[in-house]
Amino acid sequence: MYQRQSGHHLCETHFIEDIQRRVANTIKTRRMIVPEDRVAVALSGGKDSTALLLLLWQLLPTGQDIRLIAITIDEGISGYRDDTIRSAEQLTSRLGIEHHCISFTDLFGDTLDTFLKGRETQACSICGILRKKALVIAAQRAGATKLATGHNLDDEAQSVLMNVFRGDLPRLCRNSGVDSSGKFIPRIKPLSLISEKEIAVYLMLQNEWNELPECPYTRYALRREIRALLSGFEYKHPGTMLHLIESKKKIERYCAGSVLPASLGSCTMCGDPCSGDLCQVCLLRQTFGH
Ligand code: SF4
Ligand code: ZN
Repeated sequence: MYQRQSGHHLCETHFIEDIQRRVANTIKTRRMIVPEDRVAVALSGGKDSTALLLLLWQLLPTGQDIRLIAITIDEGISGYRDDTIRSAEQLTSRLGIEHHCISFTDLFGDTLDTFLKGRETQACSICGILRKKALVIAAQRAGATKLATGHNLDDEAQSVLMNVFRGDLPRLCRNSGVDSSGKFIPRIKPLSLISEKEIAVYLMLQNEWNELPECPYTRYALRREIRALLSGFEYKHPGTMLHLIESKKKIERYCAGSVLPASLGSCTMCGDPCSGDLCQVCLLRQTFGH
């Protein structure tokens, strides 16, 4: 593979070594995983989370009492989720990793498909809010001390641009991995410096590439348009995505104090930390009448 940014041509062996070294370095320099951690990997069964589980399984040191577990959320999306859940089950059983699956129906009383009737254009925001909560509950139930997600470089850069396009400075400055309330399990993103393309190549070389269906709601997602725009820029101007992430860090440093609340209150319904009376999940549940 030709790495446009570094100008290196890598063979199969060196490509895999390079990915492993960079992921290990991200984990080490940001102290993402420490001895005795119980790391819950959010495993949808798609490319990113499959690569994340495989890499952690290959890289985590033995003898430090670190345990990996996988958690899968079944949102209830017909024609899509069943295939990815099957893929997640096959992977965890091959690697011998404990696997927990939890559904929106168990937690919120119905499927995402039902919640979205007539609200399809808001699919990803609603799904994102509920899934984040579901992951935290699943990780807590599994006794996790860290929650690892498969967000890659493209995802992170897309989020920066989306928040800029929406004019959402608080969200741009919020570091989702940091929880000053201490009520949530810390979230880690070990693949945040690896591109989507590199993840695809890594999976192909590991014989773990599966053709899976795409979520039917992606056609409504703003992210899809941003993704196309950013890949074009990255191709013409290698390094664009990394520069966007650097910009976010600088904006965060200068603006976080003035746009984020000094301390969070608690949701009056569920007690989770939030900035208003109700957290986003309870607001949604009120809207749905659940
Ligand atoms: Fe949820 Fe949107 Fe992802 Fe589908 S594409 S799983 S609706 S966030
Ligand atoms: Zn709440």
